[in-house]
Amino acid sequence: MSSAFPLGAPLGVRERIAVALAALFNAACFLLLPVMPLIVSVLVWDSRYLRRYGHYFVKFVEHFKALREGPVRHYLADVFLQVREVPATIAGHCVQCGNCCLDKRCAFLQPLGDGKFACGIFHSTVRRFSNCGSFPLHARDIERYQCPSYFVVRPAAQTVLWMPTRPPGQNPPAPAQTPPPSIQ
Ligand code: SF4
Repeated sequence: MSSAFPLGAPLGVRERIAVALAALFNAACFLLLPVMPLIVSVLVWDSRYLRRYGHYFVKFVEHFKALREGPVRHYLADVFLQVREVPATIAGHCVQCGNCCLDKRCAFLQPLGDGKFACGIFHSTVRRFSNCGSFPLHARDIERYQCPSYFVVRPAAQTVLWMPTRPPGQNPPAPAQTPPPSIQ
């Protein structure tokens, strides 16, 4: 998984703020790892994260390592207060491969068998504060998670909506013949 920002492109103010806030968020997540199963249990109102503390502790370590690789920056720079849904320039449907779920490292991912996965917190409010609802946002999103089913729709070719009509016999005058420039 690579960063959400285009390689080599200069960062604007929003991106710089996103980088700083993402670093703070990621550091806080690692500091809070020992109590993360408790925090998540309360946030999504599901005691399984606390009951299976050891299992989910290991899962959260992987989850936060994956978040540190770009998704938090992407969320703060491109998604937060900007988009909530997949844009109209994207078509296709999800085949539940789990690629975009942090490359299957999301702690909330539930295997369904046959290589398919489901989100374990799909209906929670917490999920709204993530990139999940707006994935894929653009071609870069599709590419970096190797999404097998969504694709970018090319915008329709520009069409002429109005053109003045001329009555019959009123064709525009032929352009005046201009003599070729004389050779000096
Ligand atoms: S990568 Fe694409 S097909 Fe796979 S789970 Fe994500 S949206 Fe669905």
